[in-house]
Parts: sequence; structure tokens; C-alpha cells
Amino acid sequence: MEKIIYNVTLADGIRYDLLLRNGQFAAIAKTGKLENSSTAEHMDGTGCLLLPPLVDAHAHLDKTMLGMKWFHNNLGPLLSERIANERESRRKVGLDSCIQAGKLIERSISMGTLAMRSHVDIDTANGLSCLEGVLEARERYRDCFYTELVAFPQSGLVSRPGTIELMEEALRLGADLVGGIDPAAVDRDPKGSIGAIFSLAEHFDKGVDIHLHEPGELGAFTMELIADHTIASGLQGRVTLSHAFCLGSLEERRANALTELLSDAGIQITTGGQAYVPAVPSVKQLLNAGVNVCGGNDNVRDMWSPYGTGDMIERAQLIAMRNGFRRDEDLELALKICTENGAKLLQLEGYGISEDNSADFLLVRADNIAECVAAGPRERQVFKAGVLIAENGKYLS
Ligand SMILES: [Zn+2]
Repeated sequence: MEKIIYNVTLADGIRYDLLLRNGQFAAIAKTGKLENSSTAEHMDGTGCLLLPPLVDAHAHLDKTMLGMKWFHNNLGPLLSERIANERESRRKVGLDSCIQAGKLIERSISMGTLAMRSHVDIDTANGLSCLEGVLEARERYRDCFYTELVAFPQSGLVSRPGTIELMEEALRLGADLVGGIDPAAVDRDPKGSIGAIFSLAEHFDKGVDIHLHEPGELGAFTMELIADHTIASGLQGRVTLSHAFCLGSLEERRANALTELLSDAGIQITTGGQAYVPAVPSVKQLLNAGVNVCGGNDNVRDMWSPYGTGDMIERAQLIAMRNGFRRDEDLELALKICTENGAKLLQLEGYGISEDNSADFLLVRADNIAECVAAGPRERQVFKAGVLIAENGKYLS
């Protein structure tokens, strides 16, 4: 099975012809330089930009209410109120995590995302039901969509007896990483909470991904503790902090020192560039210090946020805007955060537009990456191993 895609633009702005064979990129050559093949299927890529698959490094497959009745959000500003609301409301609103995860996976694929790290709630009210549903959905889409799952004790880890045992069960059942949330602000016991997270990670030989919303000095203190534990347990390169809002609100010297610490501990950061939070970390400051930064949609139309479409090109645009990016090279950086950097976090093998890699890619109507990020074209074709699996917002099952 051979296919030639003619005259597409790659990231360098130059036009190429690509030969796909047996699901891989067999040859990539400047337009007109590829040897002609009469047996191959021919496709004209004129006017299209070819991108590697988008990667959503921070999602919540078990939370989305996509396609369900609108959730009337009358909640107050407190994190604790929103956590309790979701824990108690899941059953009442009939949120089936398997069905909903399937909807968000199909939505993601239709927009060109083929890999995701999703947190999944583990708590004493819902037990492992969210994880069981998401594991079933992961299995169903395994051939075209890579999913990594974080066991996420959103209601608290050490502050709610019975949660650590459920986390152990979740890791045995198939969760890939140990999650956590605001060890000081939610668990009220930073040393106990971080100690428990790292002890689970060491025991099960798993990575860690912690939601850190804590602001200012409180967030900085927690971050230092997490970095200490990361180094002490030899988990450099396997720990992620999601959001790390405190970095955006601290004075420059303090933020720089923490960034250096993150770099030394090999801690990676996921960010969403949301407009409705007071501060976000500067992605350039982190990247310049050697810290990998990845993009994630986080909440998509759920009890936490009425916003979100599941589109990682739109997410790149939001990250770019929140970081004050206008120059082409900065918009390219925003897209890199939502593609290559996420692939690095998820350790995806054979990712990218290179000969012998799996022919996974998307085609969008744009002249270059900057235009793609700024305009967010909806006209897209998504390919997995050379096969068209989504077109213009529709997943082709
Ligand atoms: Zn989250």
C-alpha cells in the first residue's frame, strides 16, 4: 500500500512530497524530487500544512459533560466547594465515565490529537468507578489513540482515610502515574501528602503528576518539597507539576531560583494558559532554563469549566496569548508545546515527521504554523499509520 501526498508545506515553510508505505513515512523529498510511482494512490496537498499529531498533556477524560445536558454552574469560588460538588454530583447527573471518555477521545482525534495524559478521579465516594470506565474507553481506541492515566486523588490523599488504599488498587488496575493535589491547601499536610505520593510512586515504580494550584509562597514551599522528594527518590525526569500557578505570581528572582530547582530535579510542567486564572508560569522562562513545558486542555465542558473544545491548536493559541506572543517564532513555540514537548513527556516512540516513523499526522489549511495557531483552521484531515481517521471535525470510526 503506497500513497503519495504532493506539495504539502512542512514546519520549515518548504513544500514537500511524501511517500507513505505500509503505514510509515517511506520518503520525504522537496516537491518534484520524489521518484514517480504509478501504483501509489495520489493526493494533492496544495495549500495544506502537514503537522505531527497534537498531544494533550493534561486532560480529564472522566469529567467531561460533552453531549450531556448543560451543567448549570452556580458554584462559589472555593476549590473545596467545586471538589465536593463534583464528588457528590457525578451519579446524580448520570455521568458515565466510559461513555464520556469515549466522546472526548473522539473529539480529540477529530481535531488531530492522537495522544493524551488524563487524570482520573479516585475518591472514597466513587471508588474506582471513574478509572474502570476510562480504562474501558482507553482499550476501545487503543489502535489510534494513546492514553496515559494518572490516578488523581482530587478530594485529598491523606486527609480522607481509605484513599491511599484506593490509589494502590488503581495502580494495580492499570493507572500509569501517581497523582496529587495541593498538598498544603487541599490535604492540609504538605509533608504527609508528598511523602505518601512518593512512597506510592517508589513502591509501584511509577511517575508522578501533581496538580499545584497553590499561589505565591505557599506554592513555592510545596514546589521545593516536591523537588527534594524527586531527587531523594531518584525520580528525576518522571515527575510533572500541572499548572504551577505560583511561578507566575512570584517576584522574578524567586521564580528564577525555583525554575533552576525544577530544572535540576528534571521536573516537567504542563500548562493551559487559561484566561480565568490569576497567573500562569512564563513558558519561555521555563524552557530557557531547560524545563520541558507541555500544553493541556484540562477541563473541557465539565463541572469545573463551561469552556473548552478539546482542540489543541486552540490551546496553543490560548497559551500564546496568555504569554504575550505575537511573533511568528513564538507562535511556533506555542505549537511545539502542544506537539513535540507533549510527545517527550509521554515518551512517544517514533513520533514526528521523519522517514521510517509511523505516518501519523494532520493536514490543515494554512500557509505556515504561525497562521495555523492564530487562525485555528477547522478544516483538517487526521491520519494514523497513513490511514485517514478523521476529517473536518468528524471521527471516522
Ligand atoms: Zn486538571
